[in-house]
Amino acid sequence: MCCKVLDIEELDKRAGPLCGHCTATNGCTIYKKRPEVCRDFECEWLMERSLANPLKPNLTGTILMIDPDTDQYQAVTDPARPQAWRHPLVFKHLIAKAKEGHVVVAKSGLMSWRVYASGECAPWV
Ligand code: SF4
Repeated sequence: MCCKVLDIEELDKRAGPLCGHCTATNGCTIYKKRPEVCRDFECEWLMERSLANPLKPNLTGTILMIDPDTDQYQAVTDPARPQAWRHPLVFKHLIAKAKEGHVVVAKSGLMSWRVYASGECAPWV
């Protein structure tokens, strides 16, 4: 999913289309030479072993991640499924993160929403 839904500046890849180096059968065709940004990226589901298995990105349609530039806790979805972050398990998790004090933002392509500890959501720029 990260090879599809994330915007990757180094590859001039926008959010949504699958990376041109990715194949359905063999994965990354430039794996050994993939850019540093791909080598370094790990979503919260990979990093945070306490996350429930049903929060796995391919099951919810949502990648959970800390944005390194803004420190926001983000839920990034495929632009083809822009509301996937409203999946009950994901939404409950996002509210819990907001209650911990994180700035929580759901993103889908160019659209984004702030998720507050109260459970309210609002478009976010
Ligand atoms: S270069 Fe490889 S790892 Fe990076 S986004 Fe493309 S397919 Fe994925």
